[in-house]
Amino acid sequence: MSGPLRVAVLGSTGSIGLQALYVAARFPERVRVVALAANRQGAVLAAQAMRLGVGRIALADETCAPEVTDLPPGCRCATGAAAVTELATLPDVDLVLNALVGAAGLRVSEAALRSGKVLALANKESLVVGGELLMPLAGGPVHAVTPTRLIPVDSEHSALFQCLLGEPADAVAKLWLTASGGPFRGRDRASLEGVTRAEALAHPRWTMGPKITIDSATLMNKGLEVIEAHYLFGVDFDDIRIVVHPQSTVHSMVEFADGSVKAHLGVTDMRVPIQYALSHPRRWSAPLPPVDFAALGRLEFEEPDWATFRCLGLALEAGRVGGTAPAALNGANEVAVAAFLDGRLPLTGIDRVVETVMERHDAEVVTSFEQLEDVDRWARARATLAIASA
Ligand code: MG
Repeated sequence: MSGPLRVAVLGSTGSIGLQALYVAARFPERVRVVALAANRQGAVLAAQAMRLGVGRIALADETCAPEVTDLPPGCRCATGAAAVTELATLPDVDLVLNALVGAAGLRVSEAALRSGKVLALANKESLVVGGELLMPLAGGPVHAVTPTRLIPVDSEHSALFQCLLGEPADAVAKLWLTASGGPFRGRDRASLEGVTRAEALAHPRWTMGPKITIDSATLMNKGLEVIEAHYLFGVDFDDIRIVVHPQSTVHSMVEFADGSVKAHLGVTDMRVPIQYALSHPRRWSAPLPPVDFAALGRLEFEEPDWATFRCLGLALEAGRVGGTAPAALNGANEVAVAAFLDGRLPLTGIDRVVETVMERHDAEVVTSFEQLEDVDRWARARATLAIASA
């Protein structure tokens, strides 16, 4: 390709979005940001547009539109979810970074793939909810499609993607997803009843937004990631294993038919997988400290505590049931996490709410994006009811 890669950063004011703009700023000859979108932070969005000279921006929540004041000359700002999705289809966009939070990212993933853009996916919820519809649009398992249509940004999945490149699909025996274990590793169920928002937000290894950080504390994040890996790489649930690895140095591993295992190691910094999604299939330099194996000393691995972190089992069950079950699980979880962050639900209430909603959901075969949005709305309403009556 001649000229810089033209990128739409959707979710530009969140943790992934800010780090993506950092990466883009280091490579002005190679990356040009042409569109930006945010949910509510209109003032930050406008400042980003001004700094980068971006021509198109969108704000999902129209009530925050008054915050968008100074814009670069000629810049168009639109509001509403459809305006955000439209940015994924602009003719002058080569790659869409979907860094939105939650199921709200589903339509952006769909629009990007349908318009023939490369989709750099940080929004795992869109695959959890809509993997059955999105993967055919991506042309099949991501590592088997050339040129690449979908590049995972989630650190574990970026690691798996890199381990799988160049390998024949029938040689894959197992995917090993590593989990840091989150801030409550080693704790029992009773000791988690009264944990605070601040304790749950203090992740030991990764700097991330609040929603995913709470998911990491309950291990729901790892459950969602198993579903994400199942769709991305076309691997059965029976062949995906989770292992807790507190150092987070091994980002994930692939086991092959001959018993060989390829692991991806590196520093725990999200700018690395974000940058790889932009540089793939090349690699660019990064100003990060390299892994010092002698200083690391040891790497530990252990089985997750399924009894304490019940979200993990609930997510895997939804994944195995398939159809609309993961969409219901995800909708319930998003509402429960928001309630915990607002102080309306204890941390241990999250899995109870999700379980209640799953018990009432009759999973159906997935037929359309509209159906998935209906299931998402139903799960949110049902979870809201469960929280109110808890
Ligand atoms: Mg991850």
